[in-house]
Amino acid sequence: MARRGRGRRAPRTATPRPEIPTRTCLGCRGRFPRDELVRWVVGPGGQLFVDRNLKLPGRGAHLCHDAACLEKAIRRKAFGRAFRQPVGAIDGEALRGRILEAVEARVVDLLGIARRAGWSVFGADVLDRALQAGQVRLVVTATDAAAHSLKRLMGRSETERIPVAEGFLDREALGRTQGREALVAVGITHGPVAEKLQSELQRRNRVLVAAAAQSL
Ligand SMILES: [Zn+2]
Repeated sequence: MARRGRGRRAPRTATPRPEIPTRTCLGCRGRFPRDELVRWVVGPGGQLFVDRNLKLPGRGAHLCHDAACLEKAIRRKAFGRAFRQPVGAIDGEALRGRILEAVEARVVDLLGIARRAGWSVFGADVLDRALQAGQVRLVVTATDAAAHSLKRLMGRSETERIPVAEGFLDREALGRTQGREALVAVGITHGPVAEKLQSELQRRNRVLVAAAAQSL
């Protein structure tokens, strides 16, 4: 994901997060706000699932999004201890895949929410005007957008210091989130949704980067 410029995000301290409980990561043992961690639950057959909306009942186990923390937890057999019951055969790569799926599903959800709430803009001219007017907080681009079709957008985002994130969706998938056939880019105008999207996309990179490092 490329970030252009510094964006206009308020500093982190401007968004207080009162009373978000913390949980301990099974891998690195660090404590983090609950919603920054992956919550795992165990099914009746001992299989592990990601509770992507943090709503499933029962005991949960928490982990950072980093593949390194997942590997540590597997090595230490921490899942079985956390759930106080045996868990099925654990395949690190399959579990990483489930983290990715959960993160990607949240990104798609957020883009859809932005659309339904009227917090998204798209179409070259509309997006360009919104950028100039200082309404856009984040631009998400399609993976298969041609460089020439992004040229003006990239230039404008840079001038206006708006972050640009290359998502993982191609033009068709990005378009679907907005009820369109295909889109090269979507601008998000709502600050909190833009921040959430950025952090989900960064989490996705953390899962991928750590996974790539391990396969070397
Ligand atoms: Zn961790």
